[in-house]
Amino acid sequence: MLIVLRSKAPQEEVEKIHHGLLQMAVESSFVAGPQQSVFALTGDTSKLNLTAITTNQYVEKVMNIQQPYMLASRTFQPSDTTIEIGGCKIGGGHRAVIAGPCSVESEEQMIQTATLVQSHGASMLRGGAYKPRTSPYSFQGLGETGLKILARAREATGLPFVTEVMCLETFDLVEAYADVIQIGTRNMQNFPLLKRAGKSTKPILLKRGLSATLEEFLMSAEYIMAGGNYNVILCERGIRTFDTYTRNTLDISLIPAVKELSHLPIIVDPSHACGKWSMVEPLAKAAIAAGADGLIIEVHHQPEQALCDGAQSLKPQKFGSLMSSVFKMMGTV
Ligand code: PEP
Ligand code: MN
Repeated sequence: MLIVLRSKAPQEEVEKIHHGLLQMAVESSFVAGPQQSVFALTGDTSKLNLTAITTNQYVEKVMNIQQPYMLASRTFQPSDTTIEIGGCKIGGGHRAVIAGPCSVESEEQMIQTATLVQSHGASMLRGGAYKPRTSPYSFQGLGETGLKILARAREATGLPFVTEVMCLETFDLVEAYADVIQIGTRNMQNFPLLKRAGKSTKPILLKRGLSATLEEFLMSAEYIMAGGNYNVILCERGIRTFDTYTRNTLDISLIPAVKELSHLPIIVDPSHACGKWSMVEPLAKAAIAAGADGLIIEVHHQPEQALCDGAQSLKPQKFGSLMSSVFKMMGTV
C-alpha cells in the first residue's frame, strides 16, 4: 500500500502521519520522491483503520497496490517514465542508442570510437572503467584513468556517457564523472549498492541478473526508487539457459512484460545477450520490434585487439549499417 502525500505537505504533518502508522504497528518506509513523497506500507494492511490518515488534507491518495514492487508499478504511475540525459531522452516514446567499447582502453580508442558512433547516430556513449571479469587475471579496467578518458570523449563529442559502478567504495567517484551509472548483471541484487544508487542524483541503468525473474528485476528497481531516485532504466541483456551456442539467451518476452507491469523504460543489450558480433543486428531489430526504448551496443575500432568482449563488438562500419536499419524501423529516416 502507498500513502501518497501532496507535494507541499509540511514536515510536522508528515511526522503526524508517521506517528499514526507507528501506533498501528504497521511497517512503513518514507520515500521523498521527485514530485510527491510517499509512505510505502508492507505486510498485511487489510485490517488497518486509516481514517485519520486518509482524511488528512496533505494525503493525496491511498493506493492499494497488489504487486510487491509499488513505485515501479504501472498502478502507481500509469504513464511511461521519460528520462532525460543531456540532450538525450529515453522512454515515453523516445528511443536512444548507446554505443561504445566494452572497456575504456586508451584515450585514442575512446575518442575515435565515440566520434564514429556519433556520426552513425548514437546518442550516448558506453565504456567500462571498472570491469566485472570472470577471471581475476583478465583486464580489470583502467579505473579513474578510464573515467577521465570518458569525460574527455564527452567533451570532444558532447555525448553523455554510461559507465559501471561495481562497489560502494568507488560509488562517489563514478557518480562524479558519469551521466548515467550502470549497475551490472552481477550486482543486480547487491542491495547496499542499490540503496546507494537510490540516493544518487544520476539516472541508473540497471541490468537484469543472469537468472533473475521479472519480479526480482523489478524489485531491484524498487530498491533504487525507494531511496528517492526514480530515474531507473531497465536493461535486458540475456539470461542463462541450457543453450551454450550463444553467450546468453535474449529474453524478448521481458520487453512487453515490463511494459505491462511497469512505467520504467527498458532497453536491450544484444551484444552481451549473444556474445557474437554477427548476431547483434538481428537481435537489435527484434528488440526494437518488441517495443524496447533503446539499445546499448558494444563497438570497437579493432575488435580483434580488444581487451574485453572483442568477439561481440561491432566494427564502426557494421554499427553504421545496424543503425540505418534500426532507424528505418523506428521511422526516423
Ligand atoms: C557491460 O555492460 O560491460 C557488462 C559487463 O554487462 P553485464 O553486466 O550485462 O554482463
Ligand atoms: Mn562487455
